[in-house]
Amino acid sequence: DDLSNKIAAGEVVERPASVVKELLENSVDANSQWIKIELLEAGLRSIKVIDDGDGIEPEDCEKAFFRHATSKIIDEFDLFRVKTLGFRGEALASISSVSQLTLRTSTGDQTGTEMIVHGGEILSQQKHTKRKGTEIIVENLFYNTPARLKYLKTIHTELGHITETINKMALSHPDIRFECYHNGKRMFFTPGNGNLLQVIQQIYGKKIAQNMMKIENDSLDYKITGYIAKPETTRSNRTFISLIVNGRFIKNPVINKAILDGYHTFLPIGRYPIVVLQMEMDPYLVDVNVHPAKTEVRFSKEKELFDIVKQSVYDVLHQQTL
Ligand code: ADP
Ligand code: MG
Repeated sequence: DDLSNKIAAGEVVERPASVVKELLENSVDANSQWIKIELLEAGLRSIKVIDDGDGIEPEDCEKAFFRHATSKIIDEFDLFRVKTLGFRGEALASISSVSQLTLRTSTGDQTGTEMIVHGGEILSQQKHTKRKGTEIIVENLFYNTPARLKYLKTIHTELGHITETINKMALSHPDIRFECYHNGKRMFFTPGNGNLLQVIQQIYGKKIAQNMMKIENDSLDYKITGYIAKPETTRSNRTFISLIVNGRFIKNPVINKAILDGYHTFLPIGRYPIVVLQMEMDPYLVDVNVHPAKTEVRFSKEKELFDIVKQSVYDVLHQQTL
């Protein structure tokens, strides 16, 4: 019913950045090679995500807005055993219940569909000419949940959260071309050629990118790759440490600590390195929190991974300064 939909929506959709995250994950899941994001007023007025992915068949469009209708989990909630980023089938249901949403989609080989959903209610579904791909416009987020609207911070803060979300997505998918506009002005783009260093350059600037050292370490269980910045580029907070496991952005204090330990001798007190670390491993070595929007994970062989990451960082830094 309407109330339980709105309550569940609060779990997935906390702020405009949560909408951006869910829409981007869907575009990635649909095998998009190009994703464009257009925001008005930090997404409070409008969030538009356009992709060139697989699209949705006309007969599946309505289903996409039903909670759990698309759930891909069969036996247990294990994010890392499913290939797609989405897995609970509740993002579109949640987002559409607290906004005014327009969907335009086409699989390319038949007529596309346009659907309008306001506050969880399907207002219309009709044929639409659209090239292959999907376009979702989310307007007036939280227009029908004023309590939630009151929790939102300034445009500046909300835009900061969105930027962080897009940065993470771009860093974990260097093979996808991202383009982002805010109030008509281009904020950000990536070339989508698979080159992680070029994504880093778009996010952190040329100077940082030029000061990056490559990490590469293969062990039996883990393949570690990525970049760490030279000591002279340290920052005053740890948000510049990006961790990616099997193409999924994560947060993990143990790996953060391993990086800091490996970096140790080069870190003045209160300074943190800029790092983008990609870790590939068997999905069975990762446990994930079941909360739909959370990114915390636990590693089953934590100590082993800790040592490998710490050593990789240490080695790169020490080779560099010898
Ligand atoms: P989930 O991603 O967990 O399956 P969502 O509510 O996020 O659930 O999306 C519901 C379904 O809508 C997806 O499973 C997918 O089939 C379809 N869908 C959503 N966005 C897109 C997109 N950009 N391109 C293609 N299909 C999409
Ligand atoms: Mg999804």
